[in-house]
Amino acid sequence: MVKRKKVAVIGGGVSGLAAAKAFDAKGHRVCGFERSHDFGGVWELSRSYPGVQTQSPKDLYRFTDHPMPAEYPEWPKGPQVHAYLHSYAAKHDLPRLFRLNTEVLSMDRRANGEPGWTLTLRAGASEWSEDFDFVAICSGQFSEKNTISHPGQEAFVAAGGRVMHSSDYTDPTLAENKHVVVLGASKSGTDIAVNAARNRAKSVHIVYRQNVWRVPYFIGGINFKRLLYTRAQEVQFNGWGRGPFARMVATVTRPLVWANFRGLETLLKFQLGLKKHNMVPDIPIEKEASCSLPIVTPGFFEFMNEGKIKPVIGTFEAYEKDGVRLSTGEKVPCDIAVLAIGWKLGVPYLPQAYRDKLIEPDGQYKVYRLSVNPDLPDMGFVGFNSSFCTVLSAELIANWLVRYMDGQLAHQPTREEIERDIADNLRWRRTERPAAQVYGGLCSAPFHFRHFDELMQDMGARKWKRSNPVVETFSYPDAGAYGRFLTTVPDYRAK
Ligand SMILES: Cc1cc2nc3c(=O)[nH]c(=O)nc-3n(C[C@H](O)[C@H](O)[C@H](O)COP(=O)(O)OP(=O)(O)OC[C@H]3O[C@@H](n4cnc5c(N)ncnc54)[C@H](O)[C@@H]3O)c2cc1C
Repeated sequence: MVKRKKVAVIGGGVSGLAAAKAFDAKGHRVCGFERSHDFGGVWELSRSYPGVQTQSPKDLYRFTDHPMPAEYPEWPKGPQVHAYLHSYAAKHDLPRLFRLNTEVLSMDRRANGEPGWTLTLRAGASEWSEDFDFVAICSGQFSEKNTISHPGQEAFVAAGGRVMHSSDYTDPTLAENKHVVVLGASKSGTDIAVNAARNRAKSVHIVYRQNVWRVPYFIGGINFKRLLYTRAQEVQFNGWGRGPFARMVATVTRPLVWANFRGLETLLKFQLGLKKHNMVPDIPIEKEASCSLPIVTPGFFEFMNEGKIKPVIGTFEAYEKDGVRLSTGEKVPCDIAVLAIGWKLGVPYLPQAYRDKLIEPDGQYKVYRLSVNPDLPDMGFVGFNSSFCTVLSAELIANWLVRYMDGQLAHQPTREEIERDIADNLRWRRTERPAAQVYGGLCSAPFHFRHFDELMQDMGARKWKRSNPVVETFSYPDAGAYGRFLTTVPDYRAK
């Protein structure tokens, strides 16, 4: 018999909702904690910059049992995603499981030596401790802002200039009639540059260190989901754990793979005009493909063509009167500097001694199936990994994690197996696929199918591929189909 447990779910974004549903469905007592006043995480309205929309097409950013509304565009806007998450929470009556405005300050092993953790919590002026048998960490990768300052910042701000993190750029009227300089050209950087140009900024510069491949929503007129999210594409990357046969196949097919990616690069160079903008990356696309590969913000290249967004390869050196001096030596006019420099990866409420067990000195995370670490018992991550289809990924991991906790995986791994897998994966990231080290090694792209296959097989699913092999090979992950596959996993209920 599986014993009913008291489970803490930290965070009320996509992953927290997925975890709360999965643990509740198995009969556990779920206590969710979200420090914000609302669900949604990065999609919560007060945190979203104007114009934000998904990078993933809508059928790749959904839960298995809850399609996005038909009237939503292919790439929904932030408020639409927020409404979608609310409708999912309402459908499964998840709000009853959460306390909003409640922050987890710290967690530690139970003092009485029993399994589980004690969480220190704060809501308003009250602080208290509470014991849990298991903790699902769903606080995401976007909760602690990265910070950076440059010489002259204080005087620049004192003279009326503004310096802000990209997540604080929430009012587009800010840019009107102002010189805007964006530091960083990941998706949030290009989104903000486009938004500022659209909102009549006097000038917009985007300053970034190096060129990276960028994928437009349509490649040669075809939605990128049909080209890049397929098993046929995925097998062309050097995934983990390849045996002698897979290596031999890779050697034989190398010229074809090479030609495929050179063709893709040529198309991207031509379509986006990368040469004209001096934006051709040095690294072959197949070596770079990972979660850090941004989707092109609509309007970005068009505004550059019109001269309304000016790209500069370099970084900030110092703030000066009315401007920013760059590492290139030039000074660009600046009223508002937007730092699109990302977020600190981590679990700040986990004591250092546990973080040391979780993170290697080079910043690489040690997590099996992107979820658990054998030295941190009675806890697991949901959605700590980046992905190009995070919602489905979080839901499958949540379903895997509850079974792992209950010892109900069809293949329940031993400690030795977990340790060996973690060591092999670290070796693969460090020696065979350096791009996989991005975000602490917590990125499942471009290996979504591999990852999902492992989770489904661990759970004992009788089916994890669509019946038509052509569709399965050449089509993107189908969330609805994964919902049906989940019904083939052995069921149980905790008591
Ligand atoms: C602008 C933007 C666009 C994106 N677009 C896509 C996309 O198109 N496709 C895709 O796959 N991914 C996308 N992502 C990645 C995105 O992060 C994930 O898709 C997903 O929203 C992550 O959900 P999460 O619940 O794991 O984390 P979050 O959304 O970050 O939620 C974590 C929650 O935990 C809460 N929390 C943190 N610390 C504590 C604490 N100590 N106590 C209590 N609560 C806490 C936070 O308040 C937050 O609500 C995008 C991200 C951003 C920022």
